[in-house]
Amino acid sequence: MSENNQLYDEKRYELIVERLKNRGVELIDIAEITYSLQAPYLSNLTLEICMEHVERVIKKREAQHAILVGIELDMLAEEGKISEPLQTILMKDYGLFGVDEILALSIVNVYGSIGLTNFGYVDKNKPGIMKKLDNKVSNDGHCHTFLDDIVGAIAAAAASSVAHKYAESL
Ligand code: MG
Repeated sequence: MSENNQLYDEKRYELIVERLKNRGVELIDIAEITYSLQAPYLSNLTLEICMEHVERVIKKREAQHAILVGIELDMLAEEGKISEPLQTILMKDYGLFGVDEILALSIVNVYGSIGLTNFGYVDKNKPGIMKKLDNKVSNDGHCHTFLDDIVGAIAAAAASSVAHKYAESL
């Protein structure tokens, strides 16, 4: 990889971390979900290790593209810039929409079946920051229809990354 490409990737990583923060999500919030998923299986697991794997996931291009698309659509919906019927579907986080989960799967796909299982679990249980994001539409005009799934997918992918790393040492 050329130096220019590396610089570009590093800048894009920072931009994405910043954009998540602007939308109310810190990487540590995601790492906490990863920790809750893997701690039952790994007694020596720390939040710091989970944080490293969350960062690793966000450095992947597949994840970056999904994050950019999802956040963009949430923001456009908040600004009322999407045509109907999609505008209402996104603002109401219509339960049968499903495209938000499908977009998020492109993050999890990179990490195989453990990532997929974990994603299904967090999507159903909405731990930690996911719960907060889930309630926001009705409360204050925010739209996090895509972001909650993206956060869940990053956490699930990082959990899978942790699991694979420890499996290697067995
Ligand atoms: Mg959603």
